[in-house]
Amino acid sequence: MKINFIDLQRQYQKHKEELDAALGKIMADAAFIMGPPVFELEKKLADFTGATHALSCASGTDALLLALLAYDIQPGDEIITTPFTFIATAEVIALLKAKPVFVDIRSDTFNIDFSKMKRAITKKTKGIIPVDIFGQCADYAEINPLAREHNLFVVEDAAQSFGAGYKGKKAGSLGDIGCTSFFPAKPLGCYGDGGMVFTNDPRMAEIMTSLRVHGQGDDKYNNVRIGINGRLDTLQAAVLLIKLADFPGEIATRNKIADYYSKNLREPVMTPLILKHNVSAYAQYAIRVPDRTALQKHLKERNIPTAIYYPKPLHLQKAFDYLGYRPGAFPVAEAICNDILAIPMHPYLQKNEQELIVESINAFYKKG
Ligand SMILES: *Cc1c(COP(=O)(O)O)cnc(C)c1O
Repeated sequence: MKINFIDLQRQYQKHKEELDAALGKIMADAAFIMGPPVFELEKKLADFTGATHALSCASGTDALLLALLAYDIQPGDEIITTPFTFIATAEVIALLKAKPVFVDIRSDTFNIDFSKMKRAITKKTKGIIPVDIFGQCADYAEINPLAREHNLFVVEDAAQSFGAGYKGKKAGSLGDIGCTSFFPAKPLGCYGDGGMVFTNDPRMAEIMTSLRVHGQGDDKYNNVRIGINGRLDTLQAAVLLIKLADFPGEIATRNKIADYYSKNLREPVMTPLILKHNVSAYAQYAIRVPDRTALQKHLKERNIPTAIYYPKPLHLQKAFDYLGYRPGAFPVAEAICNDILAIPMHPYLQKNEQELIVESINAFYKKG
């Protein structure tokens, strides 16, 4: 039995004929840039999330960059975010010479801790980027009113949460701008890089549409602002359209597998908490464990792959040395980085595979 951490081969085999035909047609038509599937996908995903505007782009990182460029972030501006995320979230802030200001996370959901957010706001604060970590949405019902009160924007980093639900709404629609990624390993992945921004603000949508193609105005050779080359390939849009048909079912399957894990994993394993008002997209199923290194080795010997998201919080990354944070600055994030472990999670995990994973983890602790 070969268990994959994320299984893209089985998914491809399931849709092989449709995918091959769709990609073949685009190649035959040579409609590589801004072909019809790009706009069809934008329309479908606007409907899916409930956002009035959906704008595809080249990656999740570009989605975040487009949002910050649209808010005209300037050097020295401060943006509040979490230290427990993928580098891209804070990287785009730093890329614009603005300052990432980290706020520690909740120990139960691993999302940014609202209760510690207010004291991070200064005169220079322009916005907040909450991250829906591992597929569970952050606390927008608390964060959004605080942002309003201080005239800050909220950019939702929904790179891991596309397909998730929050109080009856969909991930991507929870801030002023929502950003997602279609990197192959994300819940909805394409066959390369891809991303999307969502907003209900027509002005922001218009600015990001321009920024996405070199700050274009009425036409290609009329440039009204400095932008980027941030389009989504037609080929990727076509892949996503085909995968989208299966996507709600895949999210349901991920939740079934997560329920099985949570019901059957035994102490001392700590299973993830999903708040009642949330439906997670389960980009990852992450447990907290003692003896993590030994458990990983034990599982590897049984051909069960695992991964650590994240071994190091962002405030302790070399790239952010210049911000001057010290170990101990965010004790919750630091503690979680030391004992978090993601186990296989994808909608093609068979029952016998799930059983083997659970039995192997439980057995590791029983023998000790
Ligand atoms: C994957 C990811 C991104 C970046 O997405 P890319 O498509 O790889 O650029 C941003 N934020 C988070 C939280 C992510 O997990």
